[in-house]
Formats: sequence, structure tokens, C-alpha cells
Amino acid sequence: HEPNGPAERTFRIVMCGDAAVGKSSLVMRVVRKQFTNQLPSTLGVDFHVKTVNVDGHNVALQLWDTAGQERFRSLCKSYFRRADGAILVYDVSAEHTFLRIRDWIDTIKESTERSIPIILVGNKSDLRVGDLGAVTKSDGASMAAAMGVLFMETSALDGSNIDNTMLALTRELMAVE
Ligand code: GDP
Repeated sequence: HEPNGPAERTFRIVMCGDAAVGKSSLVMRVVRKQFTNQLPSTLGVDFHVKTVNVDGHNVALQLWDTAGQERFRSLCKSYFRRADGAILVYDVSAEHTFLRIRDWIDTIKESTERSIPIILVGNKSDLRVGDLGAVTKSDGASMAAAMGVLFMETSALDGSNIDNTMLALTRELMAVE
């Protein structure tokens, strides 16, 4: 999916989910070395840009990541307002982060005027042996189905499913009007 030429469209994607679930690590995985754009974090929010080629179209993905949980709360609505899509992350080894998913989806829905594509991401899949552990893959899939969002399990540590996550979300973003 390497781009060749300028981006035809730009999508603004917000990272959300509880502290320490791996949001920043996922962003770093996505942008790897090719990434460039980092704003000074005066607002507590940075974005990184990744240009990808999906189904023959070059698209720029702006990944917005909050730098601090508390500061984030006060700018929550403005953070989501202009979002085209969201990556909502929990930690498969920390059930309390999964139990907050409904609240996060409510926050996104309250803050956006139209419904935006969301992908639910169960990160740190490397910490799980088989299907044991705090949050199983079928728990995640059921939650995503109930909420009407996409779903993927990832590991920012070993890189698994990172590309698939971005591909699935980007396809859904491209399908919006
Ligand atoms: P954030 O607060 O959501 O941005 O989370 P961070 O990206 O700062 O990650 C929190 C901690 O989890 C750090 O110690 C990371 O190294 C670790 N971490 C992030 N992703 C993974 C992963 O996929 N697997 C494992 N084992 N650890 C991870």
C-alpha cells in the first residue's frame, strides 16, 4: 500500500480509549519511519500523517493522539468534532479498559454531528495466550457488533494487524459520501 503521488483525500482520525492501552504505540507503529508531521503539543494533542494507497487511491491519514488524559477531557468535544473517523482502543489484558468502551462510544456520538466510522481495537494481543485472559476476542467482536463498529485485535509490540486495521478503517472512510 505504498503511495505514489499526492493524496486525493485527507481523513482526520482520532485515537481514543483509556490511558496506557497503547494509543501512542499504535500511532508509532502505523507511521513507522516514514512519518513526519508532529505539531508542538500546546493543546495536548499531536497528529502524525501517513499517506497510504488503498484500492488505487492515495489518501492521507491524520492520526490525532492525545498527550494527556486529564487535559484531554476539557477539549474532548472539540477533539472529536472535526473527526472523520475514530480508532477506539482497549487493552485485552486490562478488563477495566474494555468496560469503558460504551462510554467512549457515547462520547464520540455526542461530540460528532454525523455518525463517523469507528474501529474498536483490542490492543496488546501479544500478552494473551490462546483465548484466555481478561478480554477474549469474542468479547471484543460481540461488543463491536452491538455497537455497530468495526473490530480488530492488534499488537503494537509485534505489529500484528496494524495494516489490516488501517485498511479496514480507510475503506470505510472512503465509502462515506
Ligand atoms: P497510551 O497511553 O494509550 O498512548 O499508551 P502507550 O502507547 O503509551 O502504551 C502504554 C504502555 O503499554 C507502554 O508501556 C507500551 O510500551 C505498552 N504497549 C503498548 N502497546 C503494546 C502492545 O501491543 N503489547 C504490549 N505488550 N505492550 C504494549
